[in-house]
Amino acid sequence: MIKNIQAVRGMKDYLPTNTYIWQVIENILKKTLNSYGYKEIRLPIIEKISLYKRAIGNVTDIVEKEMYTFTDRNGDVLTLRPEGTAGCIRAGIEHGFLYNQEQRLWYMGPMFRHERPQKGRYRQFNQIGVEVFGLKGPDIDVELIMMNIRLWKELGISNHVRLEINSLGSLNSCNNYRNVLIKFLEKNKNVLDENCKNRMYINPMRILDSKNPIIKNLIHDAPKINDYLDDDSRIHFNKFCKLLNELDIRYKINPYLVRGLDYYNRTVIEWIADSLGSQSTICGGGRYDNLVKQLGGYCTPAIGFALGIERIVCLVEGVNPYFKATNTFNIDVYIIPYNEDAQLMAINLSEKLRDAMPQFKFVTNFGGGNLKKQIKRAVKWQASIIIILNTINLNEIIVKDLRNGKQQKISKSQIINLLHTLLK
Ligand code: ATP
Ligand code: MG
Repeated sequence: MIKNIQAVRGMKDYLPTNTYIWQVIENILKKTLNSYGYKEIRLPIIEKISLYKRAIGNVTDIVEKEMYTFTDRNGDVLTLRPEGTAGCIRAGIEHGFLYNQEQRLWYMGPMFRHERPQKGRYRQFNQIGVEVFGLKGPDIDVELIMMNIRLWKELGISNHVRLEINSLGSLNSCNNYRNVLIKFLEKNKNVLDENCKNRMYINPMRILDSKNPIIKNLIHDAPKINDYLDDDSRIHFNKFCKLLNELDIRYKINPYLVRGLDYYNRTVIEWIADSLGSQSTICGGGRYDNLVKQLGGYCTPAIGFALGIERIVCLVEGVNPYFKATNTFNIDVYIIPYNEDAQLMAINLSEKLRDAMPQFKFVTNFGGGNLKKQIKRAVKWQASIIIILNTINLNEIIVKDLRNGKQQKISKSQIINLLHTLLK
């Protein structure tokens, strides 16, 4: 027997039983982003490897071991995008939409990282990302937080998420801190695991968010980046916190929050949903004021965040089952041709109804079957109403409300009015 071909490890199928809740959640996300005046940008899924090497940093998990990279038929070395920010800036530089203007953008789509698959961590996963260019903040930094809060409210998960923030300062102040941190790590070298020892000189900041409990313990005594901020970054961070306070936004300053990508400076944020277990960060982001220049453009301040849609869907379903129950894919009307001759009538009527009542869902019976069989199918579709058509009396339509069993005979011209009344 031929062995079945299975999906690639860590890459999930989303079956029709689940896709509707995805549509509902994605629509809420998109609608909310649009309501802040942010515009969608659609970017390729494949970029040159050099873009990510230059943007993300060579000593990050992503570039070291998580990228899907291949050589195409022309010999170009390409990568399936592991994140959206680098591609967005590449497009901005290429199309010249970053300079002397502000841009407030969002995108949605799959990202690819070769990580160890587990709950909430996949090799193909979906993100919604927001990027703002041309604004120094901290007011815009706060708007992104407000936007997050509105998203959580719309999704019914506000009580299940918490915000952590930090400031990484400027490139310069961050470097100063890095040296102090290396000195601290050198002093405690005997406690470090192999992974941390390897990173100590190339990317010591990543040690701050190590998951190893022994390292976590050690880090408690490490110098804090907040004590090394340059004056401008301190002012920026203080203003950011002050605005959050004035807006009654709850947050925690986590001095060890550094984020997984190298390009961040000043404000960094994470939204955490503890009930998700170990994969609990649903949204992360921050400022990346140097990245446009680093990728070959002119200096442009920028900030963004990305949220993991799989984790959001899991959270919504877990903490808010009502949300899923009220957002299932039920059809409204099932149209039954009583005999074969009525099939064309059924097709025509269903099209008319879709024209007149675009907010409702209509399914036409195909493949024949006696009345009993067709009604059974309507019930399986969870239709609210069935319409029965026959060619003996063309103008007589039977409408039955499956929710209460009430049935009535009406003429064709009354159908739209009646459906409006029954479905309202
Ligand atoms: P984590 O610490 O969980 O690895 P990250 O810092 O690598 O996250 P980002 O690059 O900031 O994540 O991506 C933003 C969001 O995308 C994350 O907060 C998370 O919700 C989601 N995400 C990241 N990697 C994955 C993955 N492999 N599978 C599912 N979602 C992911
Ligand atoms: Mg990661």
